[in-house]
Amino acid sequence: MSDLDHLFERIAAGEIPSHRVYEDEHVFAFLDINPLSRGHTLVIPKKRYLKLHEVPQDVAAALGRAVARIAGAVLGATGATAYNVLQNNGAPAGQAVPHVHFHIIPKYADGTGLPHHWPARPLDKTEAPGLAQAIAQRVV
Ligand code: 5GP
Repeated sequence: MSDLDHLFERIAAGEIPSHRVYEDEHVFAFLDINPLSRGHTLVIPKKRYLKLHEVPQDVAAALGRAVARIAGAVLGATGATAYNVLQNNGAPAGQAVPHVHFHIIPKYADGTGLPHHWPARPLDKTEAPGLAQAIAQRVV
């Protein structure tokens, strides 16, 4: 187990200092220590879950509400008008800290913020109906 495993639990508990911007029963939010842009904020459940789909629905609902509210606050405080919300799950997807977290990353006219490279390809129309059905059947 690495120090990173419980880092965000310790930040939420106040054992490790952070610049707190929001807190409620389930949620804690604070400034990222290595921001991509000014106002880059992390929103986390106080309790540790590794990936988003593992978060209980009541906590997920609280997180969703908080992300939307905090995004508005970040815009108000920074003057940014555009932003990205990023949420990485699993090391191959870029998750460094194994505790669910949403990044709120303001995008500024000077280009600072989340780099936008999105190598999209056309949907496979042969596979799409079956794939959509397979996903739909598994929504719990
Ligand atoms: P990930 O790559 O897991 O999606 O993002 C982890 C984020 O946590 C990074 O943006 C990193 O800068 C931030 N971070 C890592 N350690 C600390 C810390 O001790 N304090 C704060 N405030 N942010 C941290």
